[in-house]
Amino acid sequence: GKRAFIAGVADDNGYGWAIAKSLAAAGAEILVGTWVPALNIFENSLRRGKFDESRVLPDGSLMEISKIYPLDAVYDNPEDTPEDVKSNKRYAGSSKWTVQEVAESVKQDFGSIDILVHSLANGPEVSKPLLETSRNGYLAALSASSYSFISLLKHFIPIMNPGGATISLTYMASERIIPGYGGGMSSAKAALESDTHVLAFEAGRKHKVRVNTISAGPLRSRAAKAIGF
Ligand code: NAD
Repeated sequence: GKRAFIAGVADDNGYGWAIAKSLAAAGAEILVGTWVPALNIFENSLRRGKFDESRVLPDGSLMEISKIYPLDAVYDNPEDTPEDVKSNKRYAGSSKWTVQEVAESVKQDFGSIDILVHSLANGPEVSKPLLETSRNGYLAALSASSYSFISLLKHFIPIMNPGGATISLTYMASERIIPGYGGGMSSAKAALESDTHVLAFEAGRKHKVRVNTISAGPLRSRAAKAIGF
């Protein structure tokens, strides 16, 4: 069977959860990476059975998640993580949540993976038009939504089996005007799409790993509700 790591699952409403279910239904073992500030609620809800209905697979069994890893895809390794983040009480309760450490932990726990899914994005100023977006807001959107994919590939490709596949989720606002999708999120998706071409070339040649992105339709996930979509 294949083993999949899905980054960006924190409830049962988003694309990450749905993709995890499809992969589980197809027989894959499921590992997920959950944003540190959302980890406690997700684990508690899962434990209390809040997601049991949406865990049901086509054959009637419940999707099992072999392991949930705390993850913040904005940080690559402990050395580059600011002290105030490390000591923040939402983060201090978890450990090894930088991209590099999560990849190391997955390697230690499972050895290798076959599928990597990037289903995460964040834009602190998403509700501001691009014209009113600050430099910090813009860079934060690209850091969380675009570079995070590069960082995940960089650290996970070494533990991916040849012939493995990686995928991210993009949005049409990269090429058409979608008012409300601001804060540099449209730019972040354009970067993600362009990077997908380059990364596919590089990862394909060097490691026999595929890189793709899917331009998804609108879904009322937590992230989409937060911006009034
Ligand atoms: P979602 O809220 O279910 O997923 C986004 C996840 O990203 C959340 O679980 C959040 O905790 C996580 N996250 C945010 N910052 C993070 C960080 N720094 N490190 C790790 N995790 C972090 O919402 P979704 O809409 O399913 O989003 C999944 C992907 O689908 C995103 O890339 C989004 O842009 C894309 N997408 C969504 C839509 C839509 O209409 N919902 C349309 C097209 C593309």
